Amino acid sequence: MRRKIVAGNWKMNGDLAEMEDLLGEIKNQLGSVDEEITLIVSPPFPNLYPAFQSLRETDVLIAAQNMSQHEKGAFTGEVSADMLKGVGAKAVILGHSERRSLYHETNKDLAEKVKTALNHKMNIIFCVGEELESRKQNKQVKVVKHQLEEGLFHINSKDWGHIIIAYEPVWAIGTGETASPAQAQEMHAEIRKMIAEKFTPEIAEKVSILYGGSVKPANAKEIFAKKDVDGGLIGGASLKADDFLAIANSF
Ligand code: PGA
Repeated sequence: MRRKIVAGNWKMNGDLAEMEDLLGEIKNQLGSVDEEITLIVSPPFPNLYPAFQSLRETDVLIAAQNMSQHEKGAFTGEVSADMLKGVGAKAVILGHSERRSLYHETNKDLAEKVKTALNHKMNIIFCVGEELESRKQNKQVKVVKHQLEEGLFHINSKDWGHIIIAYEPVWAIGTGETASPAQAQEMHAEIRKMIAEKFTPEIAEKVSILYGGSVKPANAKEIFAKKDVDGGLIGGASLKADDFLAIANSF
C-alpha cells in the first residue's frame, strides 16, 4: 500500500510567534488524524529548528522549501543539505513552480539538487506541473514528462524510497481554481506510467503522488478518492490548523 501524505507548504508566511500558534493548534488536534497518514509541514528556513523542537514528540515531519545543490562555500544566501538535516528537516521540496518561475530554477538545477539531497539521504517532494498555456494546448503530459525526465529520472532505482512526487498544475496554485478530480487522476496515472516505463511497474506502484493547487477541506475528499492520488501538497489552506487537519482527514 502506498503512503498517504498531506504536506503543508507554508511558503514565506508566519513569523516565529505565528508559527508557534499554528503548531500548537495542529498538535492539539493530531489525535484526530489516522495513524497511517503522514503529515509534513514546511516552514521557512529560520523557523525550521523551532518547528523541529515543537514537533519533537509527534510524528509530523519537517521539510524545507528549497536547498542548495552545493555542499558548502561561497554561495551567499544559500542553505545546504547538512544544515537542513542539522535543524531537523528530513525532507525538502524541490522544483516548486514558484522556484521555477520566480527564481528561474531549471530542470538541470533541480537534477543537481536531487543528487545532493539523495547523497544526504534526504526525502524529496519533487514538484511538477504545467502552466495554463500548455494545458490549453493539451501539452500538459508532455511538459510534465520533460520535467521528470530532466529533473528526476537520473536517480537510481534504489533511491525511489526517498521520493514523493507532487503534481501541481501552475494555473491551480493559489488561484482558487483546482484541477478536477478527473484531471488530477489522469495526470497521476500518466506519471505512474512514465515511472513504470523508465524504471519498473513495482516502483511506480509504490511512489506516492500528491496533488497540489487550491486544495481545501471542501474539495479534498473527491480529489483524494481518486485511485492514483495519494494525498496533497497544500499551500494556503495549510496555514489554518482546522483546514489542514480537515484535509488530512479527507481520505
Ligand atoms: P495552494 O498552493 O494550495 O495555495 O494553491 C499549493 C502549493 O503551491 O504548493
